[in-house]
Amino acid sequence: MKAALVAEDGTLLHEARRPTGRERGPEAVVDTILGFAADLRDHGVREYGEPAAAAGVAVPGIVDSAAGVAVYAANLGWRDLPLRALVSERLGGVPVALGHDVRTGGLAEGRIGAGNGADRFFFLPLGTGIAGAIGIDGRIEAGAHDAAGEIGHIVVRPGGPLCGCGQRGCLETLASASAVSRAWAAASGDVEADAADCAQAVESGDPRALAVWREAIEALADGLVTGITLLDPRVLIIGGGLAEAGDTLFGPLRAAVEERITFQKLPLIVPAALGDTAGCLGAGLLAWDLLSVEVTA
Ligand SMILES: [Zn+2]
Repeated sequence: MKAALVAEDGTLLHEARRPTGRERGPEAVVDTILGFAADLRDHGVREYGEPAAAAGVAVPGIVDSAAGVAVYAANLGWRDLPLRALVSERLGGVPVALGHDVRTGGLAEGRIGAGNGADRFFFLPLGTGIAGAIGIDGRIEAGAHDAAGEIGHIVVRPGGPLCGCGQRGCLETLASASAVSRAWAAASGDVEADAADCAQAVESGDPRALAVWREAIEALADGLVTGITLLDPRVLIIGGGLAEAGDTLFGPLRAAVEERITFQKLPLIVPAALGDTAGCLGAGLLAWDLLSVEVTA
């Protein structure tokens, strides 16, 4: 887990990392989160003479931001955890915001990262799976049930590979970093080979790699065109492991999207800029948003 002290303009003042240690069970993980928050508050007192005025926490899984409850996270084993109240209590009652990890990372990418303050953006990390965050006027649209933006589960190949969500042919079964790793391991016969190896083989002109890569890019472009049609974003920010392939991904992807659109406007398609600090910067922005809401209220 990553934690930071963040200034009002999004500047990273201090950053720290600790192992999540999820094998210790959900209660131990929560203890680590609370202890980490308290240590960060103490660091602020030592370095700046005062504790942080608010805190933001971003967690994976299903998150009820309005209620401040981490509803469910398969990897961490928690259910209906009142994390906002627990963190606030540990920090002496300061206001606390609870966000979803991808949407919180998207907030930072849109506001102070690759989106550069764009009024309408869509952020999608291509990692183990594919998630998404819809940015509108400086905030993230979470949907009526905190489930908006899940572009990874748009079906792009009906009858295709079975997805963890129960459907077949979801975008994330074809174009996530994990999907490309699986496809390249099968095509190359090297069980250890991953998406980064595939990108390298594409760059050296390996025809098997080119076929795997093209299939993923075509699926991704099909999914993105659905997203563009619904959302009309000004900027599409793509992050996660697969985006590390740089122009090997972005060149053919831009071309494939452009080829597919008809009446839609082509958004800028750019790589994410904040790397794995996006979530923690976004949590800081959520905290600052709480304070500005209080002042203007
Ligand atoms: Zn799915």
